[in-house]
Amino acid sequence: MPVNLQNKIVMSETNRIKIIPMIILIISTCIYASALNHYAMFGDNTKMFEAKIKPAQSIYNVGVQSLDSVSETRVDDGCIGSDGRKIETNNLSEDQLKIYNSIIDGMSEFEMFKTLYNQLIESESTFSISFEKRKGYNNQSVDGQFTPGADGGGNINFNPEKAKDLSPLAICEEFFHAYQNDNKSNYPSEFNFEFEAKTFSIAATGMSSSLYQGMESWSNDLVSGKYGDNIAVISSKSVVNPLFLMEYRSSAKQYVSFNETHNIGNSYYRKNTACDPKSLTNIIKLTY
Ligand SMILES: [Zn+2]
Repeated sequence: MPVNLQNKIVMSETNRIKIIPMIILIISTCIYASALNHYAMFGDNTKMFEAKIKPAQSIYNVGVQSLDSVSETRVDDGCIGSDGRKIETNNLSEDQLKIYNSIIDGMSEFEMFKTLYNQLIESESTFSISFEKRKGYNNQSVDGQFTPGADGGGNINFNPEKAKDLSPLAICEEFFHAYQNDNKSNYPSEFNFEFEAKTFSIAATGMSSSLYQGMESWSNDLVSGKYGDNIAVISSKSVVNPLFLMEYRSSAKQYVSFNETHNIGNSYYRKNTACDPKSLTNIIKLTY
């Protein structure tokens, strides 16, 4: 983990105290969004980056330990935003809920993820969480998947068999797809949502993998601090800098041509990027 992320974790203590009450609250009604929409917009396998990243469990442990003092105040039925909408966990069994809470606790080490999660809680849309075995575009089992709801919101699903070992990169990616969908009006022209989501995941966690195929050099630039400062992998200044945006687009183009050449992913992996990464920009500016 880069030094700047170590700093970030230390600095996150006070923010965490503020944030925990927001992700602890209640709810019981449930609209199972995926039932409204039967196509899977995104399906992502995490096994492709298992080899290089820090094991997720050790990260969760850090979070769980440091959150002991507040865990007794947690109410395990979901999260509710100030407008009454929420992230719903009613579909989860008791055991799955424990795993989910542990995932979210662990992910609170990452400032950008916390911002993202709060944006979803505060959204006017409802997002449901489920742990079900599902298939992706190529009929293979996927570790994580976001399915947009017919009226906004959607379902974030994780493979129950992998839930305890999910990569923070994969967790970031699926929640970010939910945020992208919630902000789709910010994309006036064609856009590669996969490239933005993977860029977000690297920036949020400081993790990279040579197995993020087709974006190795971009990913190396990010984690090496080319666009960062002492707390952020991509600083709030960089993310709106024309040079960054130009390099973002050319890297997205390389990613698409890699996917085309090697026949990787569904059509979402091959979209052009004709506008700026607005969801990434929003989260970075809200975080730093
Ligand atoms: Zn994805």
